[in-house]
Amino acid sequence: MIFKSTPKAISILLFGVLASLEVVNAQPITSCPVSQITTGLVPSLTEKYEVSGNGIRVFYTLAGEHALVIQTDLNGNGVPDYVENVEKQADAARKAYNLVGFRDPLESGRYRAATHIDINLGNIAGGAAYSEPGIWGAVPQRGGVCAIRIDLSSGIANYPGTWSIMAHEMFHLFQYGYSMMKRSWFIEPTANWAERIIRTGTMNHPDPTQKLPQTMEEMQTTVFSQTYPYNFWSRLAKIMDPAEDSIDLPEELRNATYVDGSLIFKDDKIRGFGFLSRFYQYLDAEDAVVSQLYGWPEYDWGSGNQNHAMHDARVLKVIQRAISSTGMKNHQQPDQVYDDIEGFLTMN
Ligand SMILES: [Zn+2]
Repeated sequence: MIFKSTPKAISILLFGVLASLEVVNAQPITSCPVSQITTGLVPSLTEKYEVSGNGIRVFYTLAGEHALVIQTDLNGNGVPDYVENVEKQADAARKAYNLVGFRDPLESGRYRAATHIDINLGNIAGGAAYSEPGIWGAVPQRGGVCAIRIDLSSGIANYPGTWSIMAHEMFHLFQYGYSMMKRSWFIEPTANWAERIIRTGTMNHPDPTQKLPQTMEEMQTTVFSQTYPYNFWSRLAKIMDPAEDSIDLPEELRNATYVDGSLIFKDDKIRGFGFLSRFYQYLDAEDAVVSQLYGWPEYDWGSGNQNHAMHDARVLKVIQRAISSTGMKNHQQPDQVYDDIEGFLTMN
């Protein structure tokens, strides 16, 4: 009797599995909310610039509240240089990040539904990267595609010059592709670190005298509670990679210029990107653990949960594991200048 009933039980089970698979397949893996908004910055940007194939689109306008402040067109191709230069920096920085081992945001699970990175030039201060993808259903020039969004001022003085703001905002999209956790103490300083890929030099405000925290209390006051704890990250960068590395850029990037002929990459120096990319890989895995633990949908945590201080101790462990597995270059220095790393690694 047992033998006779088993195949039936299996087929019922199989049918159940298949039926539930069909239900799963009917849903998109990642969603892309549709907005029907018809006013404000995005709908008012009537012009579109894109270089085919890279998925980046720059939207702008020549008139009204959000008009480009400088509309110079040195190369006379009908596209203001400001717009071209924004696209050039975004594209070059993104390719360089890919080259040193950061996963492209459009290749992340979170943004699997997105096909484009949209940059909006408007009357705003500085720049902002959005972590939610979206479709502008009521804005015809957007073409109904799912895109991730960056907004940038339409009037940054002396752009591009030595600016790296577009590279900075682009790195935020990479971060969001890796992790739902969005705490300023690691999001901002590591974007600042990454954007140095196109800048002269490799670190911001390195203060070699400021040692790494050795206790959780110290970590709380000097890092977790800070918006821009640059010294902490600069010290880590220096410990992980005491001397700068050279990035072996393909010729296409090494020689890439803005419209006025100035080079996009100001030097070929980088530092500690092996560690930084591993940190984000580990954070990506940690996300799944957090989702599971609290029953939050993988890519839909709610902004309060993304910014929550409850993640701080967990992220510290991720940093510690990334340091240990990456290994410090030339760590055994005779003068033991980095003796604070041992205490930092054992802190919990
Ligand atoms: Zn930022």
